[in-house]
Amino acid sequence: MLIVMHHSATAAQIDRVEKSVRAMGLRPEPIPGSLRTAIGVLGNQGYVDDSTIRDLPGVREVIHVSKPYKLVSRDFHPQATIVKVGAVDIGDNCPPVIMAGPCSIENEEQMRAAAVGVKAAGAHLLRGGAFKPRTGPHSFQGLGIEGLKLLRQAGDSVGMPVITEVMRIEQLDAVCANADMLQIGARNMQNFDLLKEVGKLRHPVLLKRGMSATIEEFLAAAEYIVAEGNDQVVLCERGIRTFERATRNTLDLSVATLVRELSHLPIIVDPSHATGVRSLVPVMSKAALVAGAHGLMIEVHPDPATALCDGAQSLTIEGFTELMEQLRSLSAVL
Ligand code: PEP
Ligand code: MN
Repeated sequence: MLIVMHHSATAAQIDRVEKSVRAMGLRPEPIPGSLRTAIGVLGNQGYVDDSTIRDLPGVREVIHVSKPYKLVSRDFHPQATIVKVGAVDIGDNCPPVIMAGPCSIENEEQMRAAAVGVKAAGAHLLRGGAFKPRTGPHSFQGLGIEGLKLLRQAGDSVGMPVITEVMRIEQLDAVCANADMLQIGARNMQNFDLLKEVGKLRHPVLLKRGMSATIEEFLAAAEYIVAEGNDQVVLCERGIRTFERATRNTLDLSVATLVRELSHLPIIVDPSHATGVRSLVPVMSKAALVAGAHGLMIEVHPDPATALCDGAQSLTIEGFTELMEQLRSLSAVL
């Protein structure tokens, strides 16, 4: 529920509304605006009877929000959230942020070449997976802690913040010690215990959309993190499962535009997992920025033919460098 106060409401009237909300066993969350104050009501399980609130002095309107998310919604929080990863800002009015690197961390030389290549091309964050959620148990599962160290070392050597996936709560200490941003993958989007733990941290988080998740479920998952106190959440559209098999997933580009309306959190697009096809990545990257994405996550490998994971969708350093030039021209137009 959202209580909208008159623009002329006094501090005492706002205070009285907050007290009434508390008396109902609920939590008021004032949202001061330039024209008026609104008071979000948290903690309700279902519909709230607003009869003791709607006639209080200073109350203009009571809006019932039936969505499973509130804290991440624009209704509750009209100002855009800017997520900070080191010196990099992600969100409204910031230049598009590009996260790039291999699917998996394989060895020191591969990470060094990837880091040097994507940095020179103009990427802002270095990516690489150490804990890999593979479909089958016989596929390469990632280098684990050893991989985290190689990622950190490669990022430090070129002065780039790094992002990597965390799959389990037990991995959080090691991942936080080595990464500037945590990634929660599509398969863990609804791992609610992991979301809650990440919400207690102050590390920025990239939350990827589950492959069968609706936009409402996606935002409700982000709500789990923000509800625990961590508002440094970036959403990532990475394609969804449809009947189509010609591409690995189906890129749902409308999400980038729609999420900007529904939520104050930044949204980026991962065209690599969304398509699974290298030749489609550059054009989908550009389309994502046109659709309003605040950035991109792109898989880049120094030698995709030998990649232990996702080589078919990985750009070469040269391909990525060319794409970055095009993205700079496009950003100037946008
Ligand atoms: C990844 O980024 O390497 C990854 C596994 O992505 P997703 O969770 O979107 O499949
Ligand atoms: Mn991958």
